[in-house]
Amino acid sequence: MKLGILSRNSKLYSTRRLVEAAEQRDHEVRVVDPLRCYMNITAHKPQIHYKGDILDQFNAVIPRIGASVTFYGTAILRQFEMMNVYPLNESVAISRSRDKLRSLQLLSRRGIGLPVTGFAHSPDDIDDLLATVGGAPCVIKLLEGTQGLGVVLAETKQAAESVIQAFMGLKQHILVQEYIKEAKGSDIRCFVIGDKVVASMKRQAKEGEFRSNLHRGGSATLCRITPEERATAVRAAKVMGLNVCGVDLLRSNHGAVVMEVNSSPGLEGIENASGKDVASMIIEFIEKNGKPNRTKTKGSG
Ligand code: ADP
Ligand code: MG
Repeated sequence: MKLGILSRNSKLYSTRRLVEAAEQRDHEVRVVDPLRCYMNITAHKPQIHYKGDILDQFNAVIPRIGASVTFYGTAILRQFEMMNVYPLNESVAISRSRDKLRSLQLLSRRGIGLPVTGFAHSPDDIDDLLATVGGAPCVIKLLEGTQGLGVVLAETKQAAESVIQAFMGLKQHILVQEYIKEAKGSDIRCFVIGDKVVASMKRQAKEGEFRSNLHRGGSATLCRITPEERATAVRAAKVMGLNVCGVDLLRSNHGAVVMEVNSSPGLEGIENASGKDVASMIIEFIEKNGKPNRTKTKGSG
């Protein structure tokens, strides 16, 4: 097959591994920086131009779109979808997963266990908002944060109030969430491909930190998950409409709850922790499923 990888940087571990795995399996692969693509939008013949070439050769594209370029990156992906190129994850699914509120609403509607969460733009009654999530300590999140930035643990009611007021002053939308203390700074990353969890790892926050993100100094180890956790992760991926994603679970007193679903999960942590060749599994999934016109939305979303 001819594969395109939408990635800003071909030197990143995940991008390199995908290129390697694709070449090993005899595919032609090209890394394309989505920000350097430009396109024409016409009814008959949508095209994408890149460094003077027309990109019309791909059978499938693998989007690795960073949070800071979601808007333009998903527009480029949508254009590929209009050209009947198979997207590993669809543009609409990526956009919905980037919005934490939208994701939680979708997941809760399907009965998936979540931390108790409230949201607000300009709450006149911060007290009441806090009460809805059981008071302090609680976690306050920016709606579109990533890599742990924009996630704050407020230990006391006063701290929570000040943080909420500060975010409000910056005109940011926020989520206020029950703090799952019993997770002890750890979460479980389930790497989903299709309808399977192909690898999982436990991430533990470093000493004195509650966020387990590897970017925040967390460490990853292999872990076993229960059949219920496995089923929850697969269902969450399905609800979000993502073929490949990282579903992050917190082990709470009332069972595993989904904290977030990541549409561009990194490969380095999970491959190192699990010893599995996840990149090749992704390429295999594309071989099986990457037929033209297989986009559910056909780029219409
Ligand atoms: P990001 O998108 O920035 O990764 P997350 O919602 O995943 O934001 O939060 C970052 C980290 O903070 C998580 O990996 C987890 O360790 C911790 N965390 C987030 N929400 C909670 C919560 N409700 N209870 C306990 N820990 C949490
Ligand atoms: Mg996270």
